[in-house]
Amino acid sequence: MTSIRDAFQTMAWGTAPESPATAEAWLARHPKGFGHSIGGAWVEPSAGERFATTNPATGAELARVAQGSKEDVEAAVRAARAAQAAWWALGGHGRARWLYALAREVQRNSRLFAVVESLDNGKPIRESRDIDIPLVARHFYHHAGWAELMETELAGYGPVGVVGQIIPWNFPLLMLSWKIAPAIAMGNTVVLKPAEFTPLTALLFADLCHAVGLPAGVVNVVTGDGRTGAALVEHPGVDKIAFTGSTEVGRIIRAATAGSGKRLSLELGGKSPFLVFEDADLDSVVEGVVDAIWFNQGQVCCAGSRILAQEGVAARLVDKLRARMETLRVGSPLDKAVDIGAIVAPVQLEKIRQLVEQGIAEGATCWQPSWSLPREGLFYPPTLFTDVTPAATVAQVEIFGPVVVLMTFRTPAEAVEMANNTRYGLAASVWSENLNTALDIAPQLKAGTVWVNCTNLFDAASGFGGYRESGYGREGGKEGLWEYLKAERRKDGKTESDPSPSVLPSFRPSVLPSGLPPIDRTPKLYIGGKQVRPDSGYALPVLDSAGNRVTEVGRGNRKDVRNAVEAAHHAERGWATATAHTRAQVLYYVAENLAVREREFAERLRALTGSSEDAAALEVRASIRRAFVYAAWADKYDGRVHATPIRNVTLAMNEPIGVLGLVAPSEAPLLGFLSLVLPAAAMGHSVVAVPSERWPLLATDLYQVLDTSDLPAGVVNIVTGTRKELAPVLAAHDDVDGIWFFGPREEAAEVERLSTGNMKRTWAEWEPRDWLDAHEGQGEEFLREATQVKNIWVPYGA
Ligand code: ADP
Repeated sequence: MTSIRDAFQTMAWGTAPESPATAEAWLARHPKGFGHSIGGAWVEPSAGERFATTNPATGAELARVAQGSKEDVEAAVRAARAAQAAWWALGGHGRARWLYALAREVQRNSRLFAVVESLDNGKPIRESRDIDIPLVARHFYHHAGWAELMETELAGYGPVGVVGQIIPWNFPLLMLSWKIAPAIAMGNTVVLKPAEFTPLTALLFADLCHAVGLPAGVVNVVTGDGRTGAALVEHPGVDKIAFTGSTEVGRIIRAATAGSGKRLSLELGGKSPFLVFEDADLDSVVEGVVDAIWFNQGQVCCAGSRILAQEGVAARLVDKLRARMETLRVGSPLDKAVDIGAIVAPVQLEKIRQLVEQGIAEGATCWQPSWSLPREGLFYPPTLFTDVTPAATVAQVEIFGPVVVLMTFRTPAEAVEMANNTRYGLAASVWSENLNTALDIAPQLKAGTVWVNCTNLFDAASGFGGYRESGYGREGGKEGLWEYLKAERRKDGKTESDPSPSVLPSFRPSVLPSGLPPIDRTPKLYIGGKQVRPDSGYALPVLDSAGNRVTEVGRGNRKDVRNAVEAAHHAERGWATATAHTRAQVLYYVAENLAVREREFAERLRALTGSSEDAAALEVRASIRRAFVYAAWADKYDGRVHATPIRNVTLAMNEPIGVLGLVAPSEAPLLGFLSLVLPAAAMGHSVVAVPSERWPLLATDLYQVLDTSDLPAGVVNIVTGTRKELAPVLAAHDDVDGIWFFGPREEAAEVERLSTGNMKRTWAEWEPRDWLDAHEGQGEEFLREATQVKNIWVPYGA
């Protein structure tokens, strides 16, 4: 028998098991297995097919759940559609009451949820109890607030409609709340498909929705595997798909929804860097690593899986990490004293094993603690790789397991370069006791979330989502609401009420206008601030409204686009980091120089398009006004500071996406073109713009305006030619980070399909817009498309 003295000396931990009894009792209430939750009731799977969901810690079957068929998805979408109008009509306050009720219900059943989650997923009960479930309740509370405020704070916006939501297995209930709370708060109804490995908490949630009497059809849950997900993605009655999962499946979904008009948000994979500077507090860093990569067995899309340590501290950090790893406990997820639970499924465990073997085969040093794992169940030890080269498989591929690699850097610049050396961009952590260093590095990292001296912190008030191949769209915060909102088109005719030019100050030309190029010259392309001949050596005729050939423009091709993209990349950094004030100045200057030529441009417009003198004058005046509008916005479309409920300021910064491809509408050849170029430039993008194919001269006439407006060379590149030839090249180009396309639907579909190469963000529209209208043709919608939000978490405490 162990004496108290012995126990005190060895300090051995006992087990502290959580009882699964309540969870088992709930499961026992569904003895036949679960159906789908459709229209507020349990519905048998139409094909009668079910599969088992098991406990990864023991291998025991927990329950049988339905394999959703196309018919099941159809029924769920129909139920959601039937419920949507009334749910929206309920109003913000009504919906707020329901979200609040759901939050309360989650809290009331929090321990049951935590135990079911740990049983089904394998995560330690400490995590499901203290992190996942409280955050779920927080999401419903927070979004109850947005529902309440919607009418005033989001005036002019309404719901998208019926939303299909597909979630992964790593945070089953948390991902459910991230998806459902904002969607239903904004008046949408949903069909949610949980992951096949972990459907139980979604089913428990559905049970609670029935119990509290949530209006039938607002939340529908259809279980099944990827086939069920695909049926939801392809269903024509779904207005939007929100997906969290692997980049591979994200790619399939982007291709499947291309041209369907379905809105899409994707939260995909990651390989997040964890930067440790020499002046970091190494003991905090060690605990940070524990939270970064051993939280949820490392099955976290934003896991800090690449430690980048400054050379001077790397060896010390490795020693400390190894010592800490020895003390981690792997074992039963229901044991409250366990740090690392079970891996979700045999296939995942196998994948982790194989990648680790590959890491060893490629020459890296693999270190694991000396203790052995439980003999039964799907467990994997915490693993640290050193001597890793940046190109090694383990440094590049998302492992989704408790495996971290450590590499070293010398200078901050090298740290940034290594951190960004990945196709992903989900999250990053920066560790330095010098806040100046941390806040200098954070904006340079290509990641949607940057944690300073902390890691893996989440909250409903802060947006979460990716850059680059980690996807697009945000979840949480005001920025996350846009995913579930649609602008209600309304004309406000503001442009028409402009004061007449006679009462405006006239601009004195800074450079004497030399007049527009004579019409018998063939305008060239505009690349890197220079007029260049098209590579093809061919030209395209430009006809006036009567069909007379007026002149020709260069026919740009693939090679011209490539050169333009290169020029844009050259200019990108300087322009993106120029102060917003500087960018505003340049845009004002564009307005001024355009105003000097107002009459010439109006005459050109009239002659080409055959529009009335008044209409032409109006379009030019609106274009000048638009430059003023975006010059005004350049230093005002700033971010927010989110109130996250820990001792933290969370800085939500609007950042440019990179190089944008802009394919302008064929109508409104001057105003339509500038309506895309100006907001993009205002937000710090360099662009490759394809002007109206029909009347490109209005864009080529701008060369001199741009040249005389202090716009740095390469910020705006203009490639004339056929849209059909140029848009696909931009869409498929890996160095183009986003594309806006205004043209026919079939071509828009092609653009969306081709964007999957680097998962660039797309904004493709085929409905014509009234570009003259101040609400349709300009404003925050354009600014939102021209930014992505980075959330930088900065904890404080003296
Ligand atoms: P993970 O690597 O996290 O398992 P997956 O992307 O494979 O990520 O799965 C995430 C979710 O996507 C799961 O709910 C899964 O069933 C679903 N899914 C898998 N394949 C498809 C598909 N082709 N279309 C739609 N959903 C899919």
